[in-house]
Amino acid sequence: MLNYLAGQWLSDEEATINVKNTGILTGISVYEVLRTYNGLPFAAKKHFERLKKSADYMGIPLPINFDEFLELLLEGVKKNHNSSGEELRIKVILVQSTNNFSEIIVLYEELPKVSSDVYELGVKVGISKFIRPSAALVPSIIKIPGAPWKVLTRKAMGVYYDMLLLNEKGDLCEGTISNVFLIKDEKLITPNIESGILPGITRENVIGLAKAMEIPVEERTVKGWELFTAQEVFLTHTSAGIVPIRKIEDRVYIEDFADGITRILLDNFEGFIMTNESNWEGL
Ligand code: PLP
Repeated sequence: MLNYLAGQWLSDEEATINVKNTGILTGISVYEVLRTYNGLPFAAKKHFERLKKSADYMGIPLPINFDEFLELLLEGVKKNHNSSGEELRIKVILVQSTNNFSEIIVLYEELPKVSSDVYELGVKVGISKFIRPSAALVPSIIKIPGAPWKVLTRKAMGVYYDMLLLNEKGDLCEGTISNVFLIKDEKLITPNIESGILPGITRENVIGLAKAMEIPVEERTVKGWELFTAQEVFLTHTSAGIVPIRKIEDRVYIEDFADGITRILLDNFEGFIMTNESNWEGL
């Protein structure tokens, strides 16, 4: 794969960084992870806007506008997609390089394949003992690679697909790579932004899909214990879309096959995102 670094397209082996780079010394960087569908970068505008907000909070200048961002993504896709024909995962990292400058790095890899078992049987999820601060303590939009609650939780991940974090008030937030939804009495419930969650792009699409299907949606404070009174629970994230949860700790949600509202959303998800124009802005 070819990656974009310091204005050049470099192979994985060639793409190295100066050890005195401010981003390395201070850890000041923000990032986004995108994917392609049919070789086109999905929701590029939404990812760009989230990157920009995150960078603004961290005081990192963003050296390119949306058109240049999209051009960069498309150039990399052209260089990398054709060789394999596989969908790509694209990681964009904005690194503070010196006090007033920053650098955009774009890394490409094949999108990891998701086994059909994930969608049919669901995944096992744990609960983290670490606290994810609410938005009153740390702005939710900041997406930095080294957030300690995320790093420490990932170290404890073991066999789990992801682990859910609560905030300092005991409210449910999100996983380390995903947002979370509950289904209770035929309603879709998900923690609100104030709880301390990344405003996920998949989350936004799932809310749009549910509304289009006239499934009631509640974005609100969700107490941690509500997980155990829900009938269905699922995760959302860019690389895999909607991921049904089979089991959280000892509570089993799926015995044989993921069905109910999760199945209805899963079956309609791809059709919805492909035809929702806001996901293809600029293309
Ligand atoms: N929450 C966190 C902490 C994440 O890191 C991610 C993905 O990177 C998500 C949620 C899901 O966001 P998206 O749907 O935009 O991939």
